[in-house]
Amino acid sequence: MRIIWSGLVNRLCAAGVQLREQIDDDYPDRDRKSDGWIADARHIAKGNSDHIPANGIVRAIDIDSDLAAHKEEAYALVEKIRKCAKRGDKRIKYIIYDGKIMSPILGWKRRKYSGPNPHRSHFHISFTTLGDKDSSYFDLEGDKNERPKKDGRKLGKDIPSDSTSDLPSGGIRPGCNCQCSSRISLA
Ligand SMILES: [Zn+2]
Repeated sequence: MRIIWSGLVNRLCAAGVQLREQIDDDYPDRDRKSDGWIADARHIAKGNSDHIPANGIVRAIDIDSDLAAHKEEAYALVEKIRKCAKRGDKRIKYIIYDGKIMSPILGWKRRKYSGPNPHRSHFHISFTTLGDKDSSYFDLEGDKNERPKKDGRKLGKDIPSDSTSDLPSGGIRPGCNCQCSSRISLA
């Protein structure tokens, strides 16, 4: 999709298009109300966000967490994306969902996200510049033989919130709501 904004033709990075297509394939009837990609003008002034085009490229998508017939799978889907990144897909920069941020910091461990918008209606995925043109398939299933860790209770355990000060530069900042309110619908 291309959209004219500030006189420039902007597009979503190739990795963002690809990941969204894979999610659409898996959940064709999902709710898309909270989907988004490009920041609206109201959020541009607020500064840093991967939703703001950089040289015509937007490097973030929001995916509505209502997967319709598969509502219970939102966590599992986020977990698949997180594991894909952890296995080495460096196109994924960070993920935010339900008060947690996941990034290369601490090896993609879930950490507490302290921004004012906890991201429950949607999950946010930012991409690195490696995803600008790389539209290869995201290996979300991974190793089929992978077994769930026995100590699943530690999954999602918080670390001190001051550890969020190491957010990737150019991305969101603690206390900033990530300008995730890009609500341009994806027809
Ligand atoms: Zn977002």
